[in-house]
Amino acid sequence: MTPAKRKITVLPGDGIGPEVVDSALAIIKATDIDLEFEKCEAGARVFQKGIATGIPKETIQSIERNKVVLKGPLETPIGYGNRSANVTLRALFETYGNIRPVRELPGVQTAFTGRALDIVIVRENVEDLYAGIEYMQTPGVAESLKLISCEGCEKIVRLAFSYAVAEGRKAVHCATKSNILKLTEGLLQHTFEEIAPQYPQITSKHILIDNAAHQLAMRPEQFDVIVTTNMNGDILSDLTSGLTGGLGFAPSANIGNDVSIFEAVHGSAPDIAGKNKANPTALILSAAMMLRHLGEGKAANDVEQAVLVTLESGVRTSDMMGTEKPAGTSEFAQAVISNLGKTSKLSPRKKYNKVDLPPYHAGVNAVPAKSRRLAGLDVYIESTMEPVQLAAALDESMSSSPLRLEMITNRGAIVFPSSGRQVSLVDHYRCRFVLRDGVTRLGDEEILSLLSTVGHSHRWMHVEKLQEFDGQAAYSKSQI
Ligand code: NAP
Repeated sequence: MTPAKRKITVLPGDGIGPEVVDSALAIIKATDIDLEFEKCEAGARVFQKGIATGIPKETIQSIERNKVVLKGPLETPIGYGNRSANVTLRALFETYGNIRPVRELPGVQTAFTGRALDIVIVRENVEDLYAGIEYMQTPGVAESLKLISCEGCEKIVRLAFSYAVAEGRKAVHCATKSNILKLTEGLLQHTFEEIAPQYPQITSKHILIDNAAHQLAMRPEQFDVIVTTNMNGDILSDLTSGLTGGLGFAPSANIGNDVSIFEAVHGSAPDIAGKNKANPTALILSAAMMLRHLGEGKAANDVEQAVLVTLESGVRTSDMMGTEKPAGTSEFAQAVISNLGKTSKLSPRKKYNKVDLPPYHAGVNAVPAKSRRLAGLDVYIESTMEPVQLAAALDESMSSSPLRLEMITNRGAIVFPSSGRQVSLVDHYRCRFVLRDGVTRLGDEEILSLLSTVGHSHRWMHVEKLQEFDGQAAYSKSQI
């Protein structure tokens, strides 16, 4: 019996998606590997049919069967649908690691030409602000939750080091905003510093994200692999694609334990859709990453080299600097097909080894603490009172509580006790209550009683417990 052909799920997507995906498929078909493509719907037309996720059930089933997806960009509709179909796909299949490599390409003129840039952004892909957990706390104040887990940090850091080892790279930078966001961004930095010694062959260094952006614009050649959180990685990887020729050249892989999705970094570019103008390089290079992931290393290298030879020979799409007679999307793809089997003179074949993916930890992952204590709570209150009046009212109503009011902040600034500085106030206060001297224990009963007391005279909308784990405060101290 002949073995069944390997299948992948193909999502042509929106805007320029179908054009660039067709280019990549034509090139894969021209290699000697035998793949079957299962084309499925996702994106704008699906939203229009009233499917709020933008991804129909049949597409989800196809991905579950095939495990590997080649995907065009999906438009995020404004005004209908719940959230981005891209974010939903990443979350649904837990593609926790987004790998976005860029390098200097022959014939692609940029401000950095001649500096041999070869940088990979490894971006955490499911947690952080992109989980999109948002609330209007008051009609005038919005909240977004930035949740970062030890498990998520460990997986992305290990993926970054494994990727660096597989490609024989020399250095991994971890870029965070841990100086301000000490707990969330700090968790990635601490995890990185704990894991880095396990990879002694790789130089490791932490860098603040704002400095990383500056250094990337000034001396990008100092970077090799950069691991970072979700939103930072999204922004930084658009920046790195700009260094090497633009979005038309930036491929990516969304790596999961079970399913992996390969797509260009760019979106649906509606302004050039349907005009045979889009640069298909990013999607073709994403397809090469997919072939490598499927264990088809030779075909992957052949496709990558054919792209390099094509660029070297001066075939250019209209997005490339200094292009007088641009090739259309389909002409570019045909040129790549005609160059299959050739090797670039300027950019020789690279050695790629299999990336060892971090192990999947089944079940509920928990980080134990030897001791826990509740030190108080922050209650968020909507009020038009001045801070001093609010403090007096809260103090008075709580005279018999084991908790006392310690401070009140407004838009992050301490407004009680007053520093005397002028603050632009809104009707949204964070009121911190801590245990009175001599009180050692705070239970749910006391918390509920405090909320009930506060709720008699004020509108409260959010509560955070001030926890201590192993004797360490597990909350941010007030800054100003
Ligand atoms: P975009 O689609 O990436 O396009 C921005 C601009 O970059 C385009 O107008 C075009 O510039 C240029 N460009 C992008 N890809 C190109 C290519 N292959 N060839 C030539 N030029 C290319 O970003 P956007 O306009 O912000 O987003 C449009 C839609 O795509 C939105 O709905 C967004 O949510 C979605 N999106 C999806 C994904 C995804 O599916 N992963 C990612 C990002 C955005 P010129 O003006 O120079 O022609």
